[in-house]
Amino acid sequence: MGKTFATLCGRIIRDASPEEYPSTEHRKKKIMLCSQSCLDSFLEEPTILCKVHLKSEKTAQQIQQELASVLDSWRKFYDSSKKSD
Ligand SMILES: [Zn+2]
Repeated sequence: MGKTFATLCGRIIRDASPEEYPSTEHRKKKIMLCSQSCLDSFLEEPTILCKVHLKSEKTAQQIQQELASVLDSWRKFYDSSKKSD
């Protein structure tokens, strides 16, 4: 059983082990990236990937709630596309 988590670069990884994805620490926060090349570009220029997050200034709880609702919409979308088959 994997976990669902969001990477800093904006991807939602489903059913995966976070340990298998590259991560680093930035301002005492653990940051997940989807690939080694994403991690490399983050390490090269952290502010570029961070901008998106800093701009919104959302709390972790808000981000989690949004993530849950995005996943919920996806589930509904997949369910309805199955029915129309
Ligand atoms: Zn990425």
